[in-house]
Amino acid sequence: MASPSTWTTTEVRNLIGDQWLAPSSEPGLELINPATGELLGRSPLGSAEEVHAAVQAAHAAFPGWRAMPVGDRIQFLFRLKTLMEQHLAELAETITRENGKTLAEAKAELRRGIENVEVACGVPVLMQGHSLEDIAPGIDEVMVRQPLGVCAVITPFNFPSMIPLWFIPYAIATGNTVVLKPSDRVPFSAARLVKLMLQTGLPVGVVNLVNGGKPTVDALLDHPLVRAVSFVGSTPVAKYVYARGSASGKRVQCQGGAKNHVVVLPDADPESTTKIIADSAFGGAGQRCLAVSVTVTVGEAKDWFRESIAAAAAGLKVGNGLDAAAQMGPVITEASRERVVALIGKGAGQGASAIVDGRGMKGPGSFVGPTVLDGLPAASPLMETEIFGPVLSVVHAASVDEAIQMIERSAYGNASSIFTSSGASARKFRNAVSTGNVGVNIGVPAPMAWFPFSGWKGSFFGVMHAQGRDAIEFFTDKKVIVERWPKEWSRKF
Ligand code: NAD
Repeated sequence: MASPSTWTTTEVRNLIGDQWLAPSSEPGLELINPATGELLGRSPLGSAEEVHAAVQAAHAAFPGWRAMPVGDRIQFLFRLKTLMEQHLAELAETITRENGKTLAEAKAELRRGIENVEVACGVPVLMQGHSLEDIAPGIDEVMVRQPLGVCAVITPFNFPSMIPLWFIPYAIATGNTVVLKPSDRVPFSAARLVKLMLQTGLPVGVVNLVNGGKPTVDALLDHPLVRAVSFVGSTPVAKYVYARGSASGKRVQCQGGAKNHVVVLPDADPESTTKIIADSAFGGAGQRCLAVSVTVTVGEAKDWFRESIAAAAAGLKVGNGLDAAAQMGPVITEASRERVVALIGKGAGQGASAIVDGRGMKGPGSFVGPTVLDGLPAASPLMETEIFGPVLSVVHAASVDEAIQMIERSAYGNASSIFTSSGASARKFRNAVSTGNVGVNIGVPAPMAWFPFSGWKGSFFGVMHAQGRDAIEFFTDKKVIVERWPKEWSRKF
């Protein structure tokens, strides 16, 4: 049994086996509550020695864990689900304090995380192989799935609890052991989650946690005992992790950044369309990989959408996510605020007009208000830039085909949506559009836990995606056994 810990939430510690250890590396990022400017603690830079110790602990735990019957392994996940539900309010508050999103958004991410735990409880069915008798006289063939060994999970800041749960429940239910490297900007939520995992009675070393930045990631990518790497983050880092991890022979899945479009047709319902798109663009302060970033109005939709989205954006209440009245929180850091403000200025300089301008918000806290950029020229580099803030561009196309081509030209392929009351237009769009997640009258087409999170193009590097059946495939190797048992070799009764 791993020992419970009593460290305070201002300290960032690593879990190696059953020990919560203070980091041995230099201090790295200052951790600031983005809504208040309050200093919460410091993330360490991380070191190869700490990674090595965590990987060794995971490696040592692997033989015993994989040998445990699968029905027993999933009991820890049933307990985790219960514990997460019991601690939902406290977990949500930890997320809000370090990430800035509203409490309602934090609870929603935890719900999706719990859903992944639930799906992983189905591993006794999901992990089954297949078999066939008499492939030749007296010979049978069987395919079984077996765990890989030590798996690394590297996660971003925007969903501090949900994204670790896109991977860890599946990895451990299938018999692997894990080293989690959470975002160095939000280490507390992940640590709290891992503490709950230990509270389930999980054997020592099945889940380990190392904090840090690039040195920690590099050490995981190069470690010979790490068999697989699951990564979620920005596209440049995703590409880097994919290349470096694959070069050392690991199985790697990397989800990258996004620039998501929604297309609004003239026959869309104005009221619900506006509300759903505003939620998608400004929820999480625009820091969601499925947030809409560009709305393409088609035909006369142009006439009503600009006005209605401007009114919706201007009416949102921005504030500390702990305040129940707040509908949108701050962006993650002051540097991020400055970057988003500069990009809005760039858009305005390139011919767009900021019909709602969120640049004027005052601190404390790294707040940018909802912003709508109207008429960004197609050639503007901003059309391709992931802003990752509460900024929605509105552009126009003459037809659905032109809108689909616009999306085709994007280097990203995470998500797109269409708003329409025409079944034929919806069908054409979902069939032709070049993104892996597609919505029809949906603002955030986030796949449920039993479907794969299907980014395409520059939004995903690898073969198997996060969640559901893809996760089972990713975390297991197939083994095929061909068996002959001649009668004459067997004892006769
Ligand atoms: P990020 O790429 O900065 O960081 C992700 C992880 O990589 C973190 O753990 C970080 O510590 C580490 N890291 C950062 N720089 C590194 C480097 N140079 N070398 C090695 N490791 C490094 O991403 P972020 O800012 O935390 O998260 C936001 C990004 O994640 C956005 O681009 C967003 O679209 C993307 N995202 C994608 C999905 C998806 O499903 N496609 C989901 C959530 C977030």
